[in-house]
Amino acid sequence: MAPGGGIFAEISESHSEDSRFSTANVQLENFQLSKPSNNSSAKAGISSTNGVHELLECPVCTKSMYPPIHQCPNGHTLCSSCKLRVHNHCPTCRYELGNIRCLALEKVAESLELPCQHQNLGCSDVFPYYSKLKHEQMCRFRPYNCPYAGSECLVTGDIPTLVTHLRNDHKVDMHDGCTFNHRYVKSNPQEVENATWMLTVFNCFGQHFCLHFEAFLLGMAPVYMAFLRFMGDDNEAKNFNYSLEVGGNGRKLIWQGVPRSIRDSHRKVRDSYDGLVIHRNMALFFSGGNRQELKLRVTGRIWREQ
Ligand SMILES: [Zn+2]
Ligand SMILES: [Zn+2]
Ligand SMILES: [Zn+2]
Ligand SMILES: [Zn+2]
Repeated sequence: MAPGGGIFAEISESHSEDSRFSTANVQLENFQLSKPSNNSSAKAGISSTNGVHELLECPVCTKSMYPPIHQCPNGHTLCSSCKLRVHNHCPTCRYELGNIRCLALEKVAESLELPCQHQNLGCSDVFPYYSKLKHEQMCRFRPYNCPYAGSECLVTGDIPTLVTHLRNDHKVDMHDGCTFNHRYVKSNPQEVENATWMLTVFNCFGQHFCLHFEAFLLGMAPVYMAFLRFMGDDNEAKNFNYSLEVGGNGRKLIWQGVPRSIRDSHRKVRDSYDGLVIHRNMALFFSGGNRQELKLRVTGRIWREQ
């Protein structure tokens, strides 16, 4: 188990969003104009495909531009979101912008075909310029965010990369097998705000699963929650089931569920209560003793849906 330090930190989910804008420059030499132009006309106009791509990069924010692409009366281009921010003056020449679209550049973009930016992760699809972005947001080869909760870890990658990262950088405990039996002990259970969270990774059925255990405030009520996430996509996660049991003093709570994909953030799963939720009073009851110490024994099992 990797006991977490302290206060919950929101995991930034923005980095995955941002990555869709970073068109991978290494792939640019592969793109092609769908209408092949002969050499002489290409030289008269745009001499290299890199040049075309540079033209489609907003000179202000350097992101790829999509229609409507704007230009100033002197021909300087900029993207529509930058246009909103520059108070109607061209950032390049300071001339008043007006409302001029650059239809020629929009048309050039239409004729481009580019490989998915996740080509190096295994995607071999090629897309027209305007539908590439949409594909990349849903591409099944897009990297996963690090599933570790409690820190703003920005590491992304495929599953083997993340498993290695969890083991080496977050010192997460790795277990082989599809059953587990864990004890969560906390000496001062009154301090839920100074929350604990733990992550254990299970390796079974040739897949990896993240078991999360944490304490947080549900409204005013302090609760503990355990849930499982699948290290892979949602369609595969649905092939599995898991059960969790916690008990003591002759009582028992049982949860059965479907692991959520790590595409769903830790926070999202937690906030939808898709797991075993144990109210603190009950947790202390399960713990026995004089309510001064939290001692929860959580057992569980993962199985493949037939
Ligand atoms: Zn821009
Ligand atoms: Zn200008
Ligand atoms: Zn793709
Ligand atoms: Zn990480």
